[in-house]
Amino acid sequence: LGSSLRGSLDKLQGKSRLDEDDVDEIVREIQRSLLSADVDVSLVMDLSSSIEDRALHEEPPGGTSARDHVLKIVYEELVDLIGESTDIPLEPQTILLAGLQGSGKTTTAAKMAWWFSTKGLRPAVIQTDTFRPGAYDQAKQMCEEAEVEFYGDPDEEDPVKIAREGMEATEDADIHIVDTAGRHALEEALIDEIEEIERQVNPDRSMLVLDAAIGQGAKDQAREFDDSIGIDGVVITKLDGTAKGGGALTAVNETDSSIGFLGTGETVQDIERFEPNGFISRLLGMGDLKQLSERVERAMQETQEGEDDWDPEDIMKGSFTLKDMQKQMEAMNKMGPLDQVLDMIPGLGGGFKDELPDDAMDVTQDRMRSFDVIMDSMTEEELENPRIVGASRVRRIARGSGKGEELVQELLEQHKMMERTIKQFQGMGDGDMQRMMKK
Ligand code: GDP
Ligand code: MG
Repeated sequence: LGSSLRGSLDKLQGKSRLDEDDVDEIVREIQRSLLSADVDVSLVMDLSSSIEDRALHEEPPGGTSARDHVLKIVYEELVDLIGESTDIPLEPQTILLAGLQGSGKTTTAAKMAWWFSTKGLRPAVIQTDTFRPGAYDQAKQMCEEAEVEFYGDPDEEDPVKIAREGMEATEDADIHIVDTAGRHALEEALIDEIEEIERQVNPDRSMLVLDAAIGQGAKDQAREFDDSIGIDGVVITKLDGTAKGGGALTAVNETDSSIGFLGTGETVQDIERFEPNGFISRLLGMGDLKQLSERVERAMQETQEGEDDWDPEDIMKGSFTLKDMQKQMEAMNKMGPLDQVLDMIPGLGGGFKDELPDDAMDVTQDRMRSFDVIMDSMTEEELENPRIVGASRVRRIARGSGKGEELVQELLEQHKMMERTIKQFQGMGDGDMQRMMKK
């Protein structure tokens, strides 16, 4: 799916403006990716209309390609929806964990404690789950692995009492993480219990722990827990599996909160602070979106601010000399192959590349270096007007550069081929250009 979104974006390469069909296609691909990542339908629809609106009505900043522009809009709108990471100050605090049984609360409690310990704070985990057999042993063992303080009482049946005694017993700790019991479904008993624990420990933050595979069930859970204890942040667990955690966005939206942590494995160190970029890239099934968009932008700036003030758009005007070719080759060294350089020229459709002979793109590093040496043996006049280079001049240049006559001929051929391609382009009217882009 990600590859078809990428495909649609790639079709925009070289375009400086988007039409409605382009935007339609991109938006459809984004919808498909998000829906398959379990993002709620109504969220997807809201998002689509914002992206559509902006992509069609906002003017791309000067020199920005349509692809770059739409990528940035998609990224910004998703960041807007998902939000920044839940603010977790590195100071003494109490955090209460809520969630259904098996969502990963106990594992997350130990992981978060480990995380705080790496920040130089002193955490303690308080286990109040008296419902699930083995809950005490599991939590105790994980806290040993995390090398953090632990409190629990396997003989006590009242979770509220454990919570109270646990807070007292660990009063020297900076961070109190209170783990709670889950149930298979939302039951009144569970809600009552967590409300009482919440009143007892008076947490600074209550976090909802959700399995990445949660899907649409996230909505009811988020609603219930938010109504009873107030949810300040979400933790998505099991992101090391295939599920992408899109359902958690529903919970974020429903509770008007944000995502704080991600669980990415079974050991206590498999925890990450949430960071929108990586999560969005994963949702869309694309590589690092932020980096991608920044890279395109940077490449364009370098092209435009190159030492020689050489702008790839210049080759679209006037004659294409050997000097242009040399600069083009230098640019290629910096930016990648010719076809990518061409992509950065606003107005060149992706279809154009298919029209080029394969050889036109085939300027290998070795050949480029040889061509450079050859051009050093050429006069200004020859560089500006390669047509005057006949057989005797070829012989002289070959001798002067120490390269064979054949290679000099190749250089001239290469130049002719590129010149022809560019001429063909300069001669095109807008209609031809449109037709070409549609291909
Ligand atoms: P609780 O019932 O909410 O306390 O959930 P647990 O912490 O006991 O976790 C339930 C199961 O999910 C356990 O087998 C955990 O090892 C597993 N688990 C929790 N978090 C993760 C995670 O991020 N990745 C993977 N692969 N497994 C996890
Ligand atoms: Mg548990």
